[in-house]
Amino acid sequence: MEEFLKHFKNHSRADQRWLSELFECVRLQLHPLLDSSLGVCVVRLSLAVVSKVQRAVGSDLPVSYRCVSVSELKREQRTACFSSLSWSSAHYRERARGAELMLPEHKPLPRDNLLLIGCLCDGRASGSSDGLWRVRDAGGSVSCMMLMSSCLWLGRLMLFPTWNYIPQNAPDAGYLELIDSPVCVTLEAMAFDPGGTLSEAMSVTRAAELLTQRCEDQVCVCVGGQVSVVCPLLLIAGKRFFCLILSEGGSSVPVFITEAKHQYWRQCVCVGQSVWMSSLRVCSLQGLEGRRVLSDSCQSRLHPHDSSEQPDTHTDTHTHTHLPSSSAPSVRVKRSTLISFKGTVTKILNAEAGLYEIDRQVGLCLAYQPAQKWGGGLRPGAEIQLHNVHFTYNASPFAPRVVLCACLRSSVQISAFSRLRSEVEASGSHGPLQRLLLERNLGVSQYLWLCYCHNAVSERLCPRWVRAERVCVVATRLLDLVCEAEQKTQKKRNIYREMIQEPHQCPVTTYCVRWPSVALWSVRQVCEWMEREVWVSLSLPSLLPPSAGHMTSLELNASLSWSTHSVPLTHTHSDPLLLLGVLELSSTRATLRLRDQTHALDCVCVQTGQSGAIDTAWQGCLVCVRRCTLVMERFMKTNFPSWKHLDQPSYIIHKHCRVYLQLRVDDLTIISPSAAMSRRLSERGEESAPRPLTPAAAPERPLTPATAAKRPLTPAAAPERPLTPAACVSLLLRLESKQGVMLQNGSGAGHTHTHTLQLGFVCRAACLGDAQRWQNDPRNCRMQERERDGGLRKIELHFMGSCVRWFPVLHPGCVYRLIALNTADVSVLKATGVSARGGVTQLISPALLLQPQWRLHTLTDTLTDEQCHQSGVPALMSVSEVLHSSSAPEIVSFYGVVSQRITLQEDGGTKPKIQSLTAAKDPSVVEDLRLRLSVQDSACPGHVIHVYLDLSCGPYTHGLIPGAALQIHHAQRKVSRACNVYCRSLPISRVSVTDLSSGSAVSQAPPPMMLLGSWASARTQRGVVGQVKGHVVRVLSLRLQWACSLCGSIFTQTSCGRTHPPCDSTSAVFQAEAKVAVEDGSGEAHVWFSSETVCDLLMLNAGQWEGLQRHIRVKGHVKVYTRGYNMTCDEDPDESLVQYLNCLCSSAAVCRQIHLTCRIRAQRTGKHQLRKVHRGQTEFICKFAPALQLQCQHIHTH
Ligand SMILES: [Zn+2]
Ligand SMILES: [Zn+2]
Repeated sequence: MEEFLKHFKNHSRADQRWLSELFECVRLQLHPLLDSSLGVCVVRLSLAVVSKVQRAVGSDLPVSYRCVSVSELKREQRTACFSSLSWSSAHYRERARGAELMLPEHKPLPRDNLLLIGCLCDGRASGSSDGLWRVRDAGGSVSCMMLMSSCLWLGRLMLFPTWNYIPQNAPDAGYLELIDSPVCVTLEAMAFDPGGTLSEAMSVTRAAELLTQRCEDQVCVCVGGQVSVVCPLLLIAGKRFFCLILSEGGSSVPVFITEAKHQYWRQCVCVGQSVWMSSLRVCSLQGLEGRRVLSDSCQSRLHPHDSSEQPDTHTDTHTHTHLPSSSAPSVRVKRSTLISFKGTVTKILNAEAGLYEIDRQVGLCLAYQPAQKWGGGLRPGAEIQLHNVHFTYNASPFAPRVVLCACLRSSVQISAFSRLRSEVEASGSHGPLQRLLLERNLGVSQYLWLCYCHNAVSERLCPRWVRAERVCVVATRLLDLVCEAEQKTQKKRNIYREMIQEPHQCPVTTYCVRWPSVALWSVRQVCEWMEREVWVSLSLPSLLPPSAGHMTSLELNASLSWSTHSVPLTHTHSDPLLLLGVLELSSTRATLRLRDQTHALDCVCVQTGQSGAIDTAWQGCLVCVRRCTLVMERFMKTNFPSWKHLDQPSYIIHKHCRVYLQLRVDDLTIISPSAAMSRRLSERGEESAPRPLTPAAAPERPLTPATAAKRPLTPAAAPERPLTPAACVSLLLRLESKQGVMLQNGSGAGHTHTHTLQLGFVCRAACLGDAQRWQNDPRNCRMQERERDGGLRKIELHFMGSCVRWFPVLHPGCVYRLIALNTADVSVLKATGVSARGGVTQLISPALLLQPQWRLHTLTDTLTDEQCHQSGVPALMSVSEVLHSSSAPEIVSFYGVVSQRITLQEDGGTKPKIQSLTAAKDPSVVEDLRLRLSVQDSACPGHVIHVYLDLSCGPYTHGLIPGAALQIHHAQRKVSRACNVYCRSLPISRVSVTDLSSGSAVSQAPPPMMLLGSWASARTQRGVVGQVKGHVVRVLSLRLQWACSLCGSIFTQTSCGRTHPPCDSTSAVFQAEAKVAVEDGSGEAHVWFSSETVCDLLMLNAGQWEGLQRHIRVKGHVKVYTRGYNMTCDEDPDESLVQYLNCLCSSAAVCRQIHLTCRIRAQRTGKHQLRKVHRGQTEFICKFAPALQLQCQHIHTH
């Protein structure tokens, strides 16, 4: 030490202290590295270090810098840092600001004053030849990366003037970025042995010829040329190697570097560089039909050529002329081009999947290369050079337009280290996605889709329904669903062919354009889309009937109050869509819902042909929906004075919507079954050959969807599975009927005595046997013989509170196992009866109140027993039967198709019924919503019954839209005073949707042709709507008026005629009504024409019709009627207007052949009339049936 310090006698105390620290560091960390044979003493080494440091800094000693050993750096430096001897503070700040400006979301690396000296070596010293360089001192080594490295540096003691250090999550791991070239400390130049004189070197052309000739394999050659391809390091069967291609003129030779001690060359060569390589052997490649290549030998040397020039790289993104066609009918396959590219990493899209973003717009996919230890080098801010990467355009809609794909022929090189720090995910191994890519030989388009899908699944379903390690499996099943097997699987990769064969062939040479393009929407996305679409699609005039121009304000606003808009899922987006979610039963709405972590959405699920109805096993299944209808119902409170104001949205006082999905059970594809579903599927599989849920899979695939689907992925059923066997009791039931859900008095539940209202419903069921005790929860396993012991009894099941969740999965006719867990007491499942007193006959069955923790399982076993065949479910009537059957009971259940839905106006009188009791307002319960459904017979569309529903005492019923097929259970059949049959709902009524509106159901076949004579005799039995061809005999009456649109009073000139109280309305509508006698030879009918059809009846053109309206405006109204052969009017029969109407109505233009569509008009009097008839002198009194009254809906002939 003294000997060393002697050289610095003139220095200050501080300098001396610093020097002695440096000396200690050299003695401990560096001197042991030197070969003792060199005979370099510590003092000499220290002096050399000081002189190099001084040269790097300038002249002074950098006393603010602290010597750091490698082990200390790895142990103590927990944050990324930058250190430089040569950079001034101003220079550092300028560079840091520049980097920060480019990527403001990242912070620059903080500066630390550290002095690092060590030996540059490859991995062999630490037992691995992974091609990485390392900095080593006596205490340890750390991997490092250099922008340009020379073989001459290996094994030499170096001072590192400028570097970044990036610590990594793993203990004792870190990574150095050596920014400035290292400075050699030891002066002893090692003799460079090129291993053969360069004069013997042959050209690439000559070497290429040599490879085609048959010659002895042991020939050693020295070849010089330009590097055109550098392949990534590969590790095959424990052996590490890489390949590079030397080119010159038109010829090229592949050189394989296989020696462990030469692996570090990978960092010394780059594309475009000229090199010499000596002692190369010719050998044949077993993996590629014995093709002859060059390979290094133990004596080989790499010598860079002086005239190395920078490779020309272009940073322009190729502008492609063709634009993507949004709806390509079939998959378009394109060839990619090989390019070189230089850019800056701006974002790590998915490090595990090898996806990066360059220059904010270009994607980079490294997944086709073996995983490399980038150690955080590829972080935002790093400039990279890519050679021989595939340029793809529009490979996937879920990735940047341009994605550069690196394959085994590509080289990715960092050309400037990032000056920014960011979260580093150090992964030197394949992620699950990359493994899948290898297993399945996925093309780049499919791989990008898989990554998109993986992201979507982890965001929306992980960890609640899909465990993190199973996300990949779910994503793969979805990929199988959207891709046909043959379109997905490419040919097996041959790494040697991929690296050296010309023309180049690899999995990325071709790619599919924007395919698969299936988008996965989250449940929230669908909801938001619908909530936007429902109002965007709103067009008020389209909601109104043709008679809108004649409607008063009341009528107009009533017809605007409810409307529906449905869109098939396939029409929502230019690309196909998939919805993914878990099915759950909502305990507050009594509905089935599709949910993920973002949202939940109600579903109306109907059963179709082969599949059964939705049942308990579907609960918890992860499903994917490709087809369904998005239904949006609009509710509006408006006060438009008349149709002329429809363009002023300020008249809309309030609006809201309800959105839900309508789907068929067949449209649900199980991606991951619930425990109950997988049990059922496996039981079914034992009985018969497994039935694949998805199209048959390619045989070589390790996990076919059919087998995969049987394995549950989700922990959804976990709460059902007790860890220790727990006793339970069960009861086998067959459901016979189900009533609707309604608000009920909660005190009846027995556990609470406060009067709260809660949802509830009642089912009637038959017990198929006695309650059974079990050691373990039998769930939905097969029915056992003992469960059917005991007599058949009827019971009533009461579902209250959260038990209403079972509502969607309970279907009359199905068999269920009711299970009460954690008890061995069979009496808990005993139904209790109401005690009958004083000779009262008990009509009510014993009742059982379901407990929230009890479970129900649908059993799909077929009942063979005869008594079980008579299901006890009453048959449904058709609409015609309800209308015409004289023996129809008062409470009817029937089916039909909704043709119209009208919201009934609230009448203030019924307000305070139960609303006051609902303390907590449940948003799912609607208030005061009453509506009238016109339900037509599904076989004879002319037969229509009106059903009045009161939805105000239960959860909102979805799916009651025109075109939907319904089953209405337990409705009250009533006959009006005008002898019309209609139905109204009772609290026990239940409406269920059995088929979905398909659009075509609404535009039904035209109504049947009717003869008036037979229609009059049978009235409604013949149907309500029909077509009539007949002759207009005469106009019986004609009423024309201007009515105030607000109050309906007669409107004269510009003011409303109402005086008590006065009405200040300024808008009026014109209304007309005509009653006409029509005859068709078989009989006569009175046909009523309303406003919009009167003009056609009178054969007036638009001008004449307008003129007539202007004339009426003077008096406000006129009514003419037939007296004798003329038409007259009560007030002023001689007025010219009356004369005109008289002429018009008796003209041949009006009294003509006519073709109409009519419906029967409500008639109050069903009694026969007595009329006097004269014949000569004789007077008769005859009994006439009242004329058939029809309402004209449409005039076919003009
Ligand atoms: Zn390639
Ligand atoms: Zn008025």
